[in-house]
Amino acid sequence: MTTPHRPAVRPPYYYESLDWAGLVKEYEPPFEFMTGARLWSREQIAEEQLKRLRGAMSRAAKVPFYQRLWGEAGFHPEDVKSLEDLSRMPLYTIDDIRDSIERRPPLGDYQGLGFEDGAATPLRLYTSGGTTGAPRPTIYSQWDREVGAILSARTFYMQGVRPGDVVMNAWAYSTHNAAWIMDHALWHWLGATPLTTSTGNVTPTEKQVELAHLFKASSITATSDYLLHIADTARKMGLDPKHDLSLKTLLSFGDTAAVEEAFGVPTYDSYAFHEVQYVAAECHAKDGLHVFEDAFIVEVVDFETGQPLPPGHRGNLVVTALYKTGTSQLRYNIQDISAAYEDVECACGSRHRKLDYFQGRSDTMVKLRGVNVWPEACGRIVREHPGVTGEYFCIAQRVQPEGKPARDAMTIMVETVDGAEGSVQLRAELEKLLKQKVGVQIDVELVGRDSLRGLTGHGERAKLKRFEDQRAVNR
Ligand SMILES: [Zn+2]
Repeated sequence: MTTPHRPAVRPPYYYESLDWAGLVKEYEPPFEFMTGARLWSREQIAEEQLKRLRGAMSRAAKVPFYQRLWGEAGFHPEDVKSLEDLSRMPLYTIDDIRDSIERRPPLGDYQGLGFEDGAATPLRLYTSGGTTGAPRPTIYSQWDREVGAILSARTFYMQGVRPGDVVMNAWAYSTHNAAWIMDHALWHWLGATPLTTSTGNVTPTEKQVELAHLFKASSITATSDYLLHIADTARKMGLDPKHDLSLKTLLSFGDTAAVEEAFGVPTYDSYAFHEVQYVAAECHAKDGLHVFEDAFIVEVVDFETGQPLPPGHRGNLVVTALYKTGTSQLRYNIQDISAAYEDVECACGSRHRKLDYFQGRSDTMVKLRGVNVWPEACGRIVREHPGVTGEYFCIAQRVQPEGKPARDAMTIMVETVDGAEGSVQLRAELEKLLKQKVGVQIDVELVGRDSLRGLTGHGERAKLKRFEDQRAVNR
């Protein structure tokens, strides 16, 4: 039979579209990884990283997004002669991705493959950021899916999952990558059976408890918040999460101590994001997250300057995925906050560098009494008042009012027109305006014309500094 209006085309069958032997040699699956790449010396890691970085750069050099980004910065891949030279490559953030999508909707010009390439290699598409604004798509080649699944499987294996296990996957099987790659990892690379429940919206939590109990799940993968909810629900159903379930280990993201307490089994943290899958995973030493350094170069950079920071300093994570072929991520400033650990051998025997636990997002958002506040938005509001020059600077602080719990507060320093810096009325008007428009109290401090230049870098910086977060100082 033929379909008259569509020609006959042989599909790229999954089993023959990939060099499987080459794949597992380059990116070892969990069992081999434990005694292989996990124990590489620093010299071996550096040598492989440089080699793989060259490959990743040559793939990205064909992508319009990188051609533009690198061209504007005067960067040439040939400039990278050693790993230290990586810092010459420009960083990019989610804003550049949004810009790329606007330039060429709906996929942007940052993808290395288009749907038509699905005729040669099996592709997947997942999107993130669906709650606000346009979806951010990522196209994954078959190679990217397999390596991503291997990294996920390594994480689960390091954290105690074994062949023959039943693992309940309570991540959302939705537009986002997470649940799918975990599913793939359990199925293809671990010999563990995924018990697919998705989130509580899809399978009510009582049902999840029943399923985990009935099928003797030895692990559950979910956020710490949801794992705690499962424990609560189990107790309400008359089950003791510590004794009535068959759990051996729990795979989480976030605060794991409370989960260990609730279930009485080891619970491990990790770090991953949509585009690149598992970047780093906690080992049994439970002291930081090991980066999979055969697949990534992770830098921690200064929030303001973007310059790489030494171990122990908090900054933005900048991730370079060495393995991607579908959509490249090279020096992606993901704006998640962490710090690198000192480069020493871990108690688990690995020399792969460790990151501190995830410490939040660095985008300048501040949460005040449940309200998200952006310094730039406050600046736009005060500028509406004729009594100000338009220059401002915000400071977030942790304050401890007498007899009340500590809370976050924000002060906006505002330059006034000449002679108005002492005006009690102007200050009250600006505070009222902010309260109305932001929905929460923002303190106003009036200052004279040009007196904020030292803080904002006016006249010195291309992009003015408008915000300083001093909350960590008083914590
Ligand atoms: Zn370790």
